Amino acid sequence: MAALVLEYYLLLRSVLQAKPRLRACLTRCRHCRIFFLTHPRNAGRGDLRCPFGCQEAHRQQQSSRRSIEYYRGKEGQLKKRIQNGKRRAAVCPTDPPKVPIGESGGWPEPMLEHVQMVSSLIEGRRVSRREMLERVLRQHTIGRRRKIDQTVAWINEHPP
Ligand SMILES: [Zn+2]
Repeated sequence: MAALVLEYYLLLRSVLQAKPRLRACLTRCRHCRIFFLTHPRNAGRGDLRCPFGCQEAHRQQQSSRRSIEYYRGKEGQLKKRIQNGKRRAAVCPTDPPKVPIGESGGWPEPMLEHVQMVSSLIEGRRVSRREMLERVLRQHTIGRRRKIDQTVAWINEHPP
């Protein structure tokens, strides 16, 4: 994890060197304190959460707090009673729909959004979701191939 963060910071630094105007968009997560680039409309804000998990965790926390508050209300209690009744009446309980992994390549949504936004900022144009995913997948394949090549080279140098 530490190596990943270091790699990320080195990348962030080279991005900021190449595009100094993006410095204005540099902010720090109020929760885990990691630096990240935010959208220009949020530039200068210090109360943001990073897209690497804190944003999502906060959103879930807020939504579960909201639903707890809601069900505490009288109207909510009534609604819950009706819902429970419905649930009991149902013969086959249906599972919540699963998010298809194929579309996002298995990456968490806030992270994809972040990478897409940063790519668009860097390139000064709108980078589409599809284009970005294709790029990520290509990078991934190149990286894996390089690792295999290295392993093969090492085996050749160190025969059993
Ligand atoms: Zn964070």
